[in-house]
Amino acid sequence: MPSTPLPPLPSDPGLRIAYEEALAGYREGGVPIGAALFHRGELIGRGRNRRVQDGNPILHAEMTCFQNAGRLPVSTYREAVLYSTLSPCYMCSGASLLFGVPKIVIGESRTIRAADDWLRSLGMSVTVVDDQACYRLLQRFIEESPGIWAEDIGHAGTDDRYHGKHPGPPP
Ligand SMILES: [Zn+2]
Repeated sequence: MPSTPLPPLPSDPGLRIAYEEALAGYREGGVPIGAALFHRGELIGRGRNRRVQDGNPILHAEMTCFQNAGRLPVSTYREAVLYSTLSPCYMCSGASLLFGVPKIVIGESRTIRAADDWLRSLGMSVTVVDDQACYRLLQRFIEESPGIWAEDIGHAGTDDRYHGKHPGPPP
């Protein structure tokens, strides 16, 4: 368990599931980011970042969530809502766009405001809750494990490469 009390659980039921995933990841020593997928108000998938647990760099919370939800008809994705405790990176945003998910609810974009504007520019509904529990849990992890954080996504928001300015070919 965390050493000091964390803020109350998110009040939004979807975000609360995502937060539960993030907290479970924290307790496993993983990067505490969680996600949940709902269809017409029903939970159809959930997952957490598994970079540390599985030694897999592409298993961000949203990707694990999509994997756990399994193969779904296009019509289901088209009516789904993705919840994530943190602003999604371009990989996870790309997956959401690929599958046609129309709406994402984000716990917080304070740690990183990653692809929010990109998703909006492509027509996705993006809601940022600014939830304190999501924010505090991740901040605690970053303080405790800055190396793992930097390995996973630490340059996002501070590195121009993250926002589309690719560094070009190697010298
Ligand atoms: Zn991601």
